[in-house]
Amino acid sequence: MNTKIKRFLTIVFALLLAVASATTAFAHSGRTDSSGGHRDNKNKSGLGSYHYHCGGYPAHLHSGGYCPYRDVFPSSVKITAGKTTLGIGETTSIEGSVYPSNACNTNITWSCSDSSVISMSNGVITAKNYGTATITAESFNGKKNTIKITVKEITADKVVVSGLPDSNDHYIGDTFVLASQIVPENVDDPSIVWSSSNDEIATVSSSGSVQLLSAGKVEIRATASNGVSGKVGITVKEKYVETVDIAEDEIDALLGDEIPVAAVVSPSDATYPELVWTSEDPAVASVSDDGKISALACGETVITATSTNGIHDSVTVRISEIKASSLEIDGPDSILLGETATLSGIFVPANTTDQRIEWSVNNPSVASVSDGGVLTTKNAGTATITATQKDVSAVFTIEVLPIDVEEIIITASAKGAINKEDTIELYAEVLPQNATYPEITWSVSNPEIASIDENGVLTALKGGTVTVIATSADGFSSEYEVRVSSPLAIAIGAAGVAGVGAAVFATKKKKNSK
Ligand SMILES: [Zn+2]
Ligand SMILES: [Zn+2]
Repeated sequence: MNTKIKRFLTIVFALLLAVASATTAFAHSGRTDSSGGHRDNKNKSGLGSYHYHCGGYPAHLHSGGYCPYRDVFPSSVKITAGKTTLGIGETTSIEGSVYPSNACNTNITWSCSDSSVISMSNGVITAKNYGTATITAESFNGKKNTIKITVKEITADKVVVSGLPDSNDHYIGDTFVLASQIVPENVDDPSIVWSSSNDEIATVSSSGSVQLLSAGKVEIRATASNGVSGKVGITVKEKYVETVDIAEDEIDALLGDEIPVAAVVSPSDATYPELVWTSEDPAVASVSDDGKISALACGETVITATSTNGIHDSVTVRISEIKASSLEIDGPDSILLGETATLSGIFVPANTTDQRIEWSVNNPSVASVSDGGVLTTKNAGTATITATQKDVSAVFTIEVLPIDVEEIIITASAKGAINKEDTIELYAEVLPQNATYPEITWSVSNPEIASIDENGVLTALKGGTVTVIATSADGFSSEYEVRVSSPLAIAIGAAGVAGVGAAVFATKKKKNSK
């Protein structure tokens, strides 16, 4: 018991005594000193050597300095706490007041039943361990009140989910982050598990990031460790294409062109912005999946881009050909008889659409040209070749050269002796065998010794040496020497026949100029 309480009890006890002896107490007169009481040295009042009357009351003491007749004493104590249930570590305020408020002493003495559960300091309670503790507030005159403080695990009462974008329209592809708030805030385990009612419509990450994946209704839920949860419902929609726009209305293209065409889809964040490209007449122009037009034939067609929800725009494509402005023929100036050459047309511009050529030859006995431009020689000579395309033509001259004689080998029909006026036959082998002009003209260097006819038949006329000459039509010649013995005979090539020389030999000569 503290000293204030002891003092109070003493006052009550003294008061009872004073009331019991009121008659005598009032009986004596005394001088009131400057402290408001007077001395009673003989303790006639039984209250000791000093007491008070306070203007006519029975003798009494002023315990603690308060007069039991004139002062107002506390009649009750009130306690106000911010919370009576706390989680560990949590704090709350606590306040005490006495009633009435004009009491002579408003002091309050605090006490706590279990300081291991809570601590108190300067009007703040701090929770330390699970349990309960009773806090008592007591006025100076012993009036008390108590409050029970419970420290226990705090769990979620509810979970509030926020952060859904403030719109009725949530579209496929949207992302946002949801927040969760647990009530009360001071739960011991603040962990939250996010979940989606349909992962095909929307997914949610462990931190509340939401991705909207397909159209439909979905709930995103945040669940506290005790199973209490909160949620938001989301209706996910597709954002439709509203317009498709191809900038051009008409495109003029040349045959063979490849032209990329762009179509702008609006809104730009449409869920399915893909377009399907089609051609009204794919034989005139085809179009690729990404809008590239290929001009395939002269004419006109319409290319259309269509969104998945049927919004479309079109462009008219007109295709014309590239006409040739000139044509040249590429080929050799000359060619050997028997060989072939390929002629080709060179068009300006190079991308002339129609490069088909018809070939003709002015002199078909010299050469011919096939549809593909292959020239075949037929005879030596000059041919003029005309290449005709529908808009232009070109003329080309080619010389077909003969194959020259390169060698003439002369041989004789006999090597034995023949008599004067006998004949021998001379032969000429012309090489190459395909020489253009293989015809041989025979002659002799001295017609008095021997004569030779057009067939190479030589007639010996008198003794001596004569040179036989075989000349090709293109001017190549070879010689063959014949010795005629006189007076009786000639010998040809007959070594071993004495006296009658017959040396037979041929000398090749260079081709003569024509
Ligand atoms: Zn007295
Ligand atoms: Zn008094």
